[in-house]
Amino acid sequence: MTAAEPSSPSLLPADARAHLRARPLPPGGVRPAKDLCSDCGLCDTRWVAYVRQACAFLDQHMDAMERASHGRTRDLDDENELYFGVQRRMLTARLRAPIDGAQWTGIVSRIGVRALETGLVDAVLCVRASPEDRFTPVPILARTPEEVLAARVNKPTLSPNLKVLEELPDSGIRRLLAIGVGCQVQALRAVEATLPLEALYVLGLPCVDNVSREGLRTFLNSASRSPQTVVHYEFMQDFRIHFRHADGTEETVPFFGLDTPTLKDVFAPSCLSCFDYTNAGADLVVGYMGATFGRQWLVVRNPRGQRLLDLVESELDIAPVTSRGDRRQAVQQGIDAYDKAVRLPMWLAEVVGWFVERFGPRGLEYGKFSIDSHFTRNALWLRRNHGAMVERHLPAFAQRIIARYRLPSS
Ligand code: FAD
Ligand code: SF4
Ligand code: SF4
Repeated sequence: MTAAEPSSPSLLPADARAHLRARPLPPGGVRPAKDLCSDCGLCDTRWVAYVRQACAFLDQHMDAMERASHGRTRDLDDENELYFGVQRRMLTARLRAPIDGAQWTGIVSRIGVRALETGLVDAVLCVRASPEDRFTPVPILARTPEEVLAARVNKPTLSPNLKVLEELPDSGIRRLLAIGVGCQVQALRAVEATLPLEALYVLGLPCVDNVSREGLRTFLNSASRSPQTVVHYEFMQDFRIHFRHADGTEETVPFFGLDTPTLKDVFAPSCLSCFDYTNAGADLVVGYMGATFGRQWLVVRNPRGQRLLDLVESELDIAPVTSRGDRRQAVQQGIDAYDKAVRLPMWLAEVVGWFVERFGPRGLEYGKFSIDSHFTRNALWLRRNHGAMVERHLPAFAQRIIARYRLPSS
């Protein structure tokens, strides 16, 4: 890397050699993290040699990753860093010319395109959909803007992104932009120094409540009036799930109307034990959780993240982050309702949704509402299902957040 872009020392020494002798694990077998495996793809590569240090579910290394990637850990006494991680800049934005068919306005795909067009990188690690099934992810090393664009929109299922690292040694790729969710980035960062690369840029997505392909079927069947025609969905800041159907129509369902008893176990065990919602190791994070409705939310963590943002900044309509409301009571009520697996009748869910949308948390406060709700639920799930792991698996920032609430006894 150039002097302007200091390399981020990874968690393994650059002279580690174990991957030179290792082989990927055979497909379909049990992975080292067993039922907690999120299928990040590392075990499908020779870098499985470092799985004990790299796997997000075998070794919680968030502090070390932050230090290696950003030069410091997050400041736990700063509310925004506590929740959203190390940051130099936090903003909301939308592409002035949105990309048709993207998940939101397409900032992620546009950065991928510009990274290739400007020669910043030789390839972009992203995820296409299988030709047979729009929700089945197929990770690729995209070499052209067209390939990056074809990978736009979420595949809301566990995705073995890192499996394409296996192609790197013979690919001629020396500078890579990797797009991924937290568990993928944790493993990638751990093996970074041993990859045959001169530069690695990491563009992270926030991620929560992911599912296996089977889990997705259960979720859609339970939540949508027409599960077979859903082509896109998102949990949005208006406290509703927005489903888009193949004929272009939109269906919205209030969060509070979900069939909690059915959905309690639908999320993958990896995701029920995950505390890297805001992608702590990425250079730049692009989500929506801290923005008002219709906008995206960006966190620049380090100079490499700013370099990625520079690629598109002139094409963005930018606004500062804002915050409104007080989430805490709603979070505590949600913990109790989840524990009792309460299901509201739809008319009541609509009424609650109407009030919360108008008077509930907005902007950063919505982001904190979502983090509080998921961290407390996951801590409870972990305590009940993997009690022995709780102490070593919870990063310090998650412990501090969870301690603000009253969790039901196990
Ligand atoms: P696009 O330009 O449409 O690009 C989407 C990119 O996502 C593509 O490059 C593609 O390669 C990549 N991608 C698609 N599916 C996956 C996958 N399964 N794993 C890894 N990469 C993938 N944001 C929030 O603020 N809060 C959330 O709770 C939240 N949950 C998410 C859950 C999942 C499973 C995913 C994949 C994303 C989630 N996001 C969340 C991020 C958000 O939905 C958008 O992806 C993000 O804002 C980028 O939008 P865009 O229009 O710029 O993306
Ligand atoms: Fe391997 Fe990734 Fe599964 Fe961990 S999460 S066991 S590193 S495939
Ligand atoms: Fe990975 Fe966590 Fe997203 Fe699950 S919720 S896919 S474990 S980042």
